[in-house]
Amino acid sequence: MQKNCIFCQIANGEIPCHKIFEDDDVLAFLDISQVTKGHALVICKEHYENFLSTPKDLVHKVMDIAQRVGQVQIQMLGAKGVNIVSNCYENAGQSVMHFHVHVIPRYGKTDSFILEMKDNSKESLNLPAIADQIKLK
Ligand code: AMP
Ligand code: ZN
Repeated sequence: MQKNCIFCQIANGEIPCHKIFEDDDVLAFLDISQVTKGHALVICKEHYENFLSTPKDLVHKVMDIAQRVGQVQIQMLGAKGVNIVSNCYENAGQSVMHFHVHVIPRYGKTDSFILEMKDNSKESLNLPAIADQIKLK
């Protein structure tokens, strides 16, 4: 439990949420911003800063529930697609420094979620060198 962490406070019941799922390790609830209808967050109850620093077994448990939430959003809300997003560090848009996964139901290209991945391939990038740099050992 991290003092002043809003998701720790939600996890231990100090702050209310619209709960979708809970077990000993994981909690899922509606994101207050509702970027699209049914936008949910899945968190581990224990405090870790983000996806990159959370123990593997907890990441797996969170992703298992994220998958189930996405399936239910399609079945029950009529979503036509789902985006799974986990922002890591401020430069990637993380505002709450407690690991969480957004599960964002999508209702068509004109809904209110925008994720833009611009093609940067025309830049003179040395792909063999980059692949070598980030090759997993
Ligand atoms: P991120 O910007 O990726 O760190 O996501 C944090 C998310 O937490 C934002 O989408 C906020 O809308 C959401 N959020 C913040 N406070 C609450 C809260 N009390 N209940 C539900 N969602 C919240
Ligand atoms: Zn926390």
